Formats: sequence, C-alpha cells, structure tokens
Amino acid sequence: MVMSEIFGSLVFNDTVMQERLPKYTYKELKTCIENGDPISLSCATVIANAMKDWAIEKGCTHFTHWFQPMTGITAEKHDAFIQPTPDGKVIMEFSGKELIKGEPDASSFPSGGIRATFEARGYTTWDPTSYAFVKDHTLCIPTAFVSYTGEVLDKKTPLLKSMEDLSNKACRILKLFGKNVRKVVTTVGPEQEYFLIDKSVYEKRKDLIFTGRTLFGAPAPKGQELEDHYFGTIKQRVVKYMSDLDIELWKLGVLAKTKHNEVAPAQHELAPIFTQSSVSTDANQLTMEMMKKIASRHGMACLLHEKPFAGVNGSGKHNNWSMSTDTGENLLEPGDTPEDNAQFLLFLVAVLKAVDDYQDLLRVSVASAGNDHRLGANEAPPAIVSVFLGEELDGILTAIAEDRTYSKRARCDYEIGVSSLPKFKKDTTDRNRTSPFAFTGNKFEFRMLGSSFSIAGPNIILNTIVAESLDQFADELEGAEDFMSAVKALIKKTFIAHKRIVFNGNGYSDEWVKEAEKRGLLNLQSSPEALPYFRTAKNIALFEKHGIFSALEVESRTDILLENYSKVLNIEALTMIDMTAKDIMPAVTTYIKELSDTAISAKAVGIDAKTQVTVAKKLSDLCAAGYKQLDTLKTKVHKAETISNIQDKAMYYRTDVLPAMEALRKTADEMEVNTAEKYWPFPTYGDILFSIKE
Ligand code: ADP
Ligand code: MG
Repeated sequence: MVMSEIFGSLVFNDTVMQERLPKYTYKELKTCIENGDPISLSCATVIANAMKDWAIEKGCTHFTHWFQPMTGITAEKHDAFIQPTPDGKVIMEFSGKELIKGEPDASSFPSGGIRATFEARGYTTWDPTSYAFVKDHTLCIPTAFVSYTGEVLDKKTPLLKSMEDLSNKACRILKLFGKNVRKVVTTVGPEQEYFLIDKSVYEKRKDLIFTGRTLFGAPAPKGQELEDHYFGTIKQRVVKYMSDLDIELWKLGVLAKTKHNEVAPAQHELAPIFTQSSVSTDANQLTMEMMKKIASRHGMACLLHEKPFAGVNGSGKHNNWSMSTDTGENLLEPGDTPEDNAQFLLFLVAVLKAVDDYQDLLRVSVASAGNDHRLGANEAPPAIVSVFLGEELDGILTAIAEDRTYSKRARCDYEIGVSSLPKFKKDTTDRNRTSPFAFTGNKFEFRMLGSSFSIAGPNIILNTIVAESLDQFADELEGAEDFMSAVKALIKKTFIAHKRIVFNGNGYSDEWVKEAEKRGLLNLQSSPEALPYFRTAKNIALFEKHGIFSALEVESRTDILLENYSKVLNIEALTMIDMTAKDIMPAVTTYIKELSDTAISAKAVGIDAKTQVTVAKKLSDLCAAGYKQLDTLKTKVHKAETISNIQDKAMYYRTDVLPAMEALRKTADEMEVNTAEKYWPFPTYGDILFSIKE
C-alpha cells in the first residue's frame, strides 16, 4: 500500500466530507465550526447518513460516542446501526439525533460528588472539530461529556474552552501589533515513552497485571549503566512492532513521526508531528491505546506506567507547546533577532509570568501516584517548577531589565573537525534536559507529565494561565499612549517581577533545591501535598474568570484526583499483601526446607553443611521480618480505609501506607537474591527487562 492510501484511511476527514457531503451541508458544517455555532438537526441528519454509509463500507456495524471522562482514558459504548423493519428484517440507520447526542449512564464515571449515583443522566455531545474515525468495526464519534445539570464531566470540554479563551486573549494582543488575526491555536507535540516486554513474563507478574508496575524486584545484574540502549539499534521484534504501530496510527490520521530506543532497557519513545492541542490530545489517547493493542498482537505487553521498574528510568511525556495564528505565524518563534522582536518577547514573558504565578497549578496538572515515583528522582525534572530560557534569551531579557543594549553573541559555525562533513549553524543555546519547562527554540517543552497521562489536563492549565497573562497585558496595553514604549516597559517589568522562575542550571542538583527555596518557589514533593492547591481561592477565581471550570467543578476534580491517588495505593498495597502471603512466603519456605533437608542429609554422611544452614537461617529471619512488615501493612491499609476525609486519607496513604510498602519490598527483594532461581515464584528484573531477545 502506498502512503497516500494509508494515511487517514480510517478517518472521516475533510477530503471525505468534501467527497460525500452535499456542497451546502459541507459549507454549513464548516461555517458552524469556524464560528462555534451549533449545527442544525437537518444538517446533522445528512452528515450522519454520509458517515454511516462511509463507515459501513469500512466494515462497521456499530457506532459509539467516544469521550474522555475523568478516568484519564477514553470511554465508548457501542450501538449497532440496526433498525427493525415491519417484515422482521433490519436496516442500517444512523440519525442526526444519534450523531448529536448520546445518553450514556453517567453514574459509574468519576464525578467527585457532583452527582449522586441515582442522578445517572449524562450526555455526550458531538464535537465536530475533531474527526470521526473507525476502530474495531465501529464508527467512533469524538464527543464532550456533561451532566444533566450542565456540569462538565470530561477532559475534552475544558480543553476546548481553554483553547478558545487563549485565542481571544492572544488576538487582542496581536491586534495592538497591527495584525488582523482571527484565531490563535495552541499546538502540541507530545513525545510518548513506553516499555515493551514479552507477554509471557508480564502474565506471570500479578503486580504488573493489577498495578502496571513491579512492586517487588531486586536489581538485575545489568541495568542502564552502560548507556547502550539509548538510540541503540532496535531489536527486530520491536522494529516489526513499531512499523505495525506506525501504520495503524497513520490509518487513524495520527502523525507518528519519530521512534527510538530510550535510556532504560526495554524502553522506547514515539513522537508525533505537532498539531492543534485538541486533535493532539485525541491522537495521544489513540496512540496509547494502539501501543497496547499492537503489543498484544506481537506477543508483548506495553507498559505505560510512570515507573514500572525501580532503579532504572521511568517513563514520561514531553508536552511541546506553542501558539500559532491562523495566518501560520508561530508566536514563540524568536526570528533572527529576538532582541528586536517585541511581539515575541511579550509572548515569552507572558509565559514566564504564567508559569511563575501558577506554579502550583502546573504541578497539580502532573500529580499522580505513578508520577510521584519520577519527579525529583534524578531521571525526571524535579518537583519544583522552573523555566529554562537559555543563554541568549536570558541575556536579552536581562539587558532589557538593566536598560542595556544587548550585545549579540554571534551564532558561530560549528566545526565538526572532519572537512567532508557539512558545517551547520550552532544553536545559540545548548539543551537542558533537567528543566521541567524548557524553551527549545520556538516552543516550550513541559517535561513533567507522566507517560500514562491524558495531555488534556496539563494543556487546560497551560492555556488558561497564559491566557490570564495575556488578558492582563491587553488591559494594560490597550490604554497606552505610546504602544511600543509601553510594550518595552511591560516586558521589562514582567521579567523583573518573574525572573525568579528562570533557572538555567542543573535541576537535579541539591543546590537548586536550596536556591529554589530561597527564591520562594514551591517544592511540592507528592500528589497529596500538591493537589489541594487546585482549589485555593486564587485558582478557583482564575478558572471562573476564564469560564473553564466552576468552583463546584474544581472541587469535584480535586476530590477525584485525591480519591484516585488513594485507590491506586490501596490496590498496590493489596497486591503486595497477596503476592507476599501467597507467592513469596510459600516459595521461600519451600527453599528453606530444601536447604534444611540437604543439611540433614549432608550431616548424616559427615559433610559440613554450614553454608546451607546459614542461608536457611538468613531466609528464615527474613521471613519473620517480612511477616511482621506484612502485618503492619495490613493494619495500615485497614486504618486508611476507615478515614473518611478525602484529603486526610490520601495523605495517610502517602505518609504511612507507602513507607510500609517500601519496607516490605526491601525485605522481599533481599529474599529474592538469597533464593534459588527455580524457587522464586515470578520472573525477576533480569527476566523482564531483557525478555525481548532479538
Ligand atoms: P526532543 O529533542 O525533545 O526529543 P523531538 O524532536 O523528538 O524532541 O520532538 C519534538 C516535538 O516537538 C515533536 O513532537 C514536534 O512535532 C514538536 N514541536 C515542534 N514544533 C512545535 C510547535 N511549534 N508547537 C508544538 N510542538 C512542536
Ligand atoms: Mg523532548
């Protein structure tokens, strides 16, 4: 198959619409999307019919409203197109009404107490800005999900609201620069990390099955220390998987572009070409789903957890973000002379101000039980939010702040030292991998996201906080007598007020933690510490002002996130208890028996059996210690279950249950290294991390 036939072949995209819709319907749809107007029922009826015919040709029998509830994953309920006819047969039908509105039972999705379970009604409504597509013989229609009383229950709706809001505020600013821009879109390119392991080892690990991460496991003899995996040659099984994945994603219109091995053994990355945030969000959800599905087809399991293995790197997601006008201008493109580019500098300091004023919200947007294992662990950015600007931009803004002219450091040709290789222009700044929020040439890269996240949450926050900066700027500049000098003064004032958020050094160092504290930056180490910041008065006021969330929605979302944290830890603790009692202890006991039997037989024939006795004793002591720790863990889990305050409960899991889990793990891992391999009840780190052999 040729690429032009593959790409988007399962998407009801613009080309298909132009081919299949009557001209006036297509036009009405386009106008409605552009102006954000609702689509008439008669128009929807025509579209539904065309969609159905197209989908049936692609082998579909069902349709579903595809939505993104607060679970962080997508949801779908499939309905067949069939309609009975009086002669006892069926015809395939799909009405405009069915396209526009669905009524899934909302009671079993997290709502954070917005609805009691008896008020089950929820609606899904068609989002015509995102294309319908075919998956599993089903026509999937991207939708928003709201409650009967109008509260938003999903991640898509607030994302769309935040994009529109930022667009309005950015257009106000651009108008002052004399530009006639009707729309600004936020763009995102999320780099996705993941692990691939053989299915046979996955299936033998209850912890991977129930929690997505290993709760036990001593380090393998080889980890990532040789640095031989990053960008290394990709194993054949993985190559086949990656090609298959690319093709399936391309069919769905996902712009999968770059693939390579990552730092840890068995770790890989996929990066798409960026597109507008809402489309990128849908595409990333599909990417994660396809990664798992295709892995299974290849006899492998794809792990998207943030920290599947202790001691080697975990997985994150880099959210590359910028703003672009409908005329194709990237607002974060510095150009050749950023020092003379007032518009660029203004948008740049708008982001700086936003990140400084709302560090707490950015931290909240990446908080989860899984991500707590990464942030600040010397492999991922610290939990402290700061911005990397690089030498040149920092130099320019500092010069402005000090009323100096910026003396440009010329971009020099980079000499590789081999004359046959072409020379290229050296970037003005090196990269900084340790920064949580780095300027990378013409976009910002928000690097704190966990690999399993929906990117909707972080982008809702990012868009809203930048919109707030731009709103304040527009208020100030719209009344200015001399616009350009007002812009310059505003850039200066803003940089001076917010330069504490700029840090170009090593984010992994201890000095930075101290320095950040001196600067008054927040260092929220864990989710239960971070999440309450979501609902501070200042933040609720922000969301209400921008029409993103009501106070009730913020409250409920905070509760959902806190409850999710407790539930995840509860499942992990119960899995550990189960694995210890049912697998580890019995296995070790059997090995102790073998050692003891051997010692007895050895002694009977006059052989010294000190070694067997020593190991048996050691394991026996570890069993005793492990048993105690198991008991403590059980007691703490019971206690946690009795705490009714959602915040207190999450905090108790963090301060009491988690350390009890860690203590038990330590003992179990010590047992592992002292137990003969054939007795150990599940695959070890070595078995798992190197399970894909060729
Ligand atoms: P890295 O060097 O960080 O691994 P990659 O080249 O793998 O970077 O990925 C960079 C990502 O940034 C890609 O997904 C790319 O499409 C995206 N990107 C580039 N320009 C923009 C932009 N203007 N807005 C949003 N994302 C962008
Ligand atoms: Mg990156």
